[in-house]
Amino acid sequence: MTDPTPFVVAVDGPAGSGKSSVSKEAARRLGFGYLDTGAAYRALAWHALEHGADTSDAAAVVDVFGDFDYAISLDPEDYWVRVGATDVTPAIREPRVTDAVSGVARIPAVRHAVNDLFRRLVADSARPGVVVEGRDITTVVAPEAPVRILLTAAPEVRAARRSAEVTTQDAATVAAALHRRDASDSAVVDFLTAAPGVEVVDSTDLDFAQTVDAVLAVVARTRGALDGR
Ligand code: C5P
Repeated sequence: MTDPTPFVVAVDGPAGSGKSSVSKEAARRLGFGYLDTGAAYRALAWHALEHGADTSDAAAVVDVFGDFDYAISLDPEDYWVRVGATDVTPAIREPRVTDAVSGVARIPAVRHAVNDLFRRLVADSARPGVVVEGRDITTVVAPEAPVRILLTAAPEVRAARRSAEVTTQDAATVAAALHRRDASDSAVVDFLTAAPGVEVVDSTDLDFAQTVDAVLAVVARTRGALDGR
């Protein structure tokens, strides 16, 4: 009998490591689904801001979480994020959302609920596998995943990549926001050191294509080892 559970490739890492674009391209090449878990936290931060809630106030966030109606596409060729009927795909990348997201992500009840949602989305995927990317996928969301990768890069390289993406702010502002978010996120989840059994892919000296190849090599090696069992 074939195993109906999708093959999970768990990818964690900090902002600017190339995690999202690399995971999406790896999913495309593998014919897998792609799940961006950060989008759920971003969408919740957007939702809280729309309601005028103070995102540093856990009770206020938990309150608006009650009517948080969230949907995300796992298709790497057709990526979208919705809250209710609103397509929030570009809106959740705005600096006001990025600045607010750590506040909502630090609430244990929120993390617990979205983690259940992530596991359900993966289990319900019709694809043979799913590349799931975030901060705590290798450790909390899918610690049993056959492939677990920590994608890292030197802080100055991450800041430079981020500022190339965010054209509405100057490089120093983007770098300061990134370091602030790293500090606040790492108080919740340690995404800068690899847990036991997690493979590190350091993209500091790799370009995009090389990083995708490095991730695919880890996947191929694991699949080969599993097939040879
Ligand atoms: O990956 P991205 O930068 O879109 O993530 C946005 C935010 O969501 C992170 O800064 C972090 O606060 C939160 N996050 C998290 N756990 C995840 C994914 C993202 O706490 N698995």
